[in-house]
Amino acid sequence: MAYRNTPKVQFPLERYQVNGLPFGKRSVLDGVLWGIHLGEDIIVKAGTDVRAIGRGTVVYAAFHAGDAEKGNWGHVIIIRHRHPRRKQVFYSLYGHLGTSYKRIGDTVDLGEPLGFIGEGYTAENGFWEAHLHFAIYMGPWQKHVLPGYWKDGDTRTRPEWWVVPSEFIAEYDDN
Ligand SMILES: [Zn+2]
Repeated sequence: MAYRNTPKVQFPLERYQVNGLPFGKRSVLDGVLWGIHLGEDIIVKAGTDVRAIGRGTVVYAAFHAGDAEKGNWGHVIIIRHRHPRRKQVFYSLYGHLGTSYKRIGDTVDLGEPLGFIGEGYTAENGFWEAHLHFAIYMGPWQKHVLPGYWKDGDTRTRPEWWVVPSEFIAEYDDN
């Protein structure tokens, strides 16, 4: 799959406000340490459109159902992008979608709809309020879904491969 440059980026929701779990927060749910939150949670109504933050290629799109014990992703999409001048490759991750309009290998444009926010408190999307988990990943691609949390000793990912999504979007420029 070819790399696609994105001269611009935008937020994945029309109104992007981190009103759920922020990036980097150490989370304990029902007494279990989940670890450091690797994205930002935006609580919004189910059915809200989620849009691609820039031009890119879909490198992951799959449905990860949860259950009563462990909520999961619902539909999750990961898009690979590249900065036009720095040639830096980065990935945007969108979790808890109720559906996915995209498949692996699809190309996407800035602002293109990817799906919409799934219903909350369901086996499909996880037993929590309807929300978008949005993350920016700068590490090596691993051909499978990326985790939403990191804790000490977890070798699936490294915390330094993740950045604060809202800052990344706000500060992005093509120079
Ligand atoms: Zn989250």
